[in-house]
Amino acid sequence: MADENIPAHLECAICMKLLLEPVSVPCGHTFCQTCLEQALGYRNLCAVCRAPVPPGQAVNILIRSMISEQYPRALASRRREVEEELRQAEQHAEEERQREVAGDAPVQTEANGAGGDVIILPVLRHKRPMLPQCRIGHELDSQGELVVNFAVQGGRRICMMLPEGNSGICMNVEHLRPAGRQAAQVTLVGKFRVRLTEQPHLHEDGFELGRFEAYFDTPLPLHLLGREAPQEGADGEEPAPLVAEAAMQAVERQLEMLGSGSRYVFTENCGEPPAALRRRPGGTLTSADLEALSFWLLGAIRGDNIWRKKWVESTDTQKRLVACRKILKEAGARPVLNLPGSDSWMHPTQSSWSSLVLLLVVLAALLAKALGLFDSWGRNPSRQTLSSRRFN
Ligand SMILES: [Zn+2]
Ligand SMILES: [Zn+2]
Repeated sequence: MADENIPAHLECAICMKLLLEPVSVPCGHTFCQTCLEQALGYRNLCAVCRAPVPPGQAVNILIRSMISEQYPRALASRRREVEEELRQAEQHAEEERQREVAGDAPVQTEANGAGGDVIILPVLRHKRPMLPQCRIGHELDSQGELVVNFAVQGGRRICMMLPEGNSGICMNVEHLRPAGRQAAQVTLVGKFRVRLTEQPHLHEDGFELGRFEAYFDTPLPLHLLGREAPQEGADGEEPAPLVAEAAMQAVERQLEMLGSGSRYVFTENCGEPPAALRRRPGGTLTSADLEALSFWLLGAIRGDNIWRKKWVESTDTQKRLVACRKILKEAGARPVLNLPGSDSWMHPTQSSWSSLVLLLVVLAALLAKALGLFDSWGRNPSRQTLSSRRFN
C-alpha cells in the first residue's frame, strides 16, 4: 500500500483500512460492507455519529469504482488480506469439525486406511430423513430403547438411517425418558452426516452396529465465501453468505406474515438458526457455518422426503442454499415454513406441542368462564340434562 497513498476519507472508520465494498448510510458516513454489517448486528446506529441506520444498505457503486480505478494496487492487497483471514477461519473451522467427529469417546474411533476416523455407531432406522442441526423428540419401541441405552453407555451417539441406503446422521442423545406407562422417548440432536464403510453387523441384542466415516460438503471456494457481489454484467455466482442472508430474510418475512405466535412454534419445531450466525452477525462465515445454515434452512422449509433426501445427501452447500432460497422466494405470501400440522417430517417434540394446545384449551375455558358463558349454558335446558346426567 506504500506506493498508493490512501486519503483518509477513503478509509473505513471501523477498520481504519481502505474501504472494501463501501456502503454509504443515510447520515452520509461510509464503511466497508462487512464492517457495517458486523456493527449493525449489535446496534442499528452509525459507528461515527450514532444516527439510526436501517438494515439492507446497498454498496455505493460510485465509490467502489473510483477506488478500483485510482487505487488498484491498494485494493488488490486489501482483498488478499481478506482472503487470508477467510483461509485462516476455514482452517480453524475444519479443525473444530475434526474434533467433533472424534467426539469425547476416543474408544469408539479408530483410524482407517484413508487417514480419517472410523466411528462405530448403533443404528436406528427411521423412514424420514434426518438432518444435521435438527433436534427431534422420537418415540422408541423396545428395540429402539436398546439402541439408545447402548449409546448412552458409550459416546451417547447413534446413527439415524433410512430403512435403505448407506448414509445417515450421527445424532447425540440429549435426553432419554425410559418406558413407563408411556413408551420411551428420546431427544436427539443431529450432528453430522456419516456413511457406512462396510455392511453393519448385528449386535447380540439384535440391533445393527455400523462402522461409519463422517462426510461434509465440499468446502466453498474463497470467491463464494466473501461478500463481494459479482460486478454488474458479470455472470459469476452470487456469494454464498448473500444467498444465505436472502433466504434468512425470506424466513423472517414468512414469520412476520404468520403472526406473533408462529415464531415461538416455529422455533420449537426447527430450533434457532446455527449459533455461528448469532455470534458473528455480518461477520466472516466459513464453509462449515454455511453448511450448517443450509441444513437449518432445509429443515425450516416444508418439503417431501424425496426433496429432502436429495439435499441432505448433496455435498454442495451453494446449490442447497440456492434451492432453499428459490422455494422461499417463489412462495411469496404462501406459507412454506415447517410448522406443526404442515406435513412436518421432523417429529417436533410432540409433548411440547400438545402441552401448548392444552394450555390454549385451558385459557379458552378460563376466558369463557370469565365471560359467563358457562352460566348461560347452565340455563340452557339441554345443557342442564347433560350436566345432571354427569353428576348422577
Ligand atoms: Zn472497514
Ligand atoms: Zn454517521
